[in-house]
Amino acid sequence: MIIGEKSVVSIHYSLKDDQGAELDSSSGMAPLTYLHGMNQLIPGLEKELTGKKTGDSLHVVVEPEDAYGNFAPELIQKFPLEAFQEISNVEPGMQIQVTGRDGQIHVMTVQEMDEQGVTLNGNHPLAGQRLHFDVTIDSVREATEEELEHGHAH
Ligand code: ZN
Repeated sequence: MIIGEKSVVSIHYSLKDDQGAELDSSSGMAPLTYLHGMNQLIPGLEKELTGKKTGDSLHVVVEPEDAYGNFAPELIQKFPLEAFQEISNVEPGMQIQVTGRDGQIHVMTVQEMDEQGVTLNGNHPLAGQRLHFDVTIDSVREATEEELEHGHAH
């Protein structure tokens, strides 16, 4: 079966950065299964998978704008220590959910902390990075009615 809208696709993948360091991989795990056409993968990868079939292997290079976005310096902000009283053991690298002025929940990473406050970085950890995927398509099938209703693969 060819991958298109409403396909449930299982892939094995490895993800490397520009320097060739492995960032993520499905090696030794179950393949990643997703419902195609629902923005469940980054756009640059999903686009390249369209029209491919079971057994195909592909190497895909995705620019930041089609992956996790460009790095935005304005998403790095310093907050007073008092704002973190309810969170114990704040430390660099920790991820915190912050409710923004728009009411949306943003995941931010603690970048730095000192007596004046805590610096949070709202960029995705892979923002600004060109991503290199090696993908093998494990299986392709049509989505069931229930999966389409739910908007995800079962
Ligand atoms: Zn469901």
